[in-house]
Amino acid sequence: MAKKKYRIKIDRDLCIGAASCVALAMKTFQLDSENKAVVLDEDGDTAEAIKLAAESCPTKAIILEDSETGDQEYP
Ligand code: SF4
Repeated sequence: MAKKKYRIKIDRDLCIGAASCVALAMKTFQLDSENKAVVLDEDGDTAEAIKLAAESCPTKAIILEDSETGDQEYP
């Protein structure tokens, strides 16, 4: 089985609930009752879709780290 590529963090103070991440990777991100993004499944969508979702975030609230090395890959 392919290993997940990213460890995903969400900076809840930065998230404004714009939901573009959810639109682009809906199996990975979800909005909670406070309208902040939460990670449903770090492997819910393809790595490409997760990267696009992170890039789509207007406040750069999504932080992607390499799941093996822990290096920050985005932003
Ligand atoms: S795109 Fe960014 S601001 Fe919008 S819900 Fe996702 S994490 Fe929050």
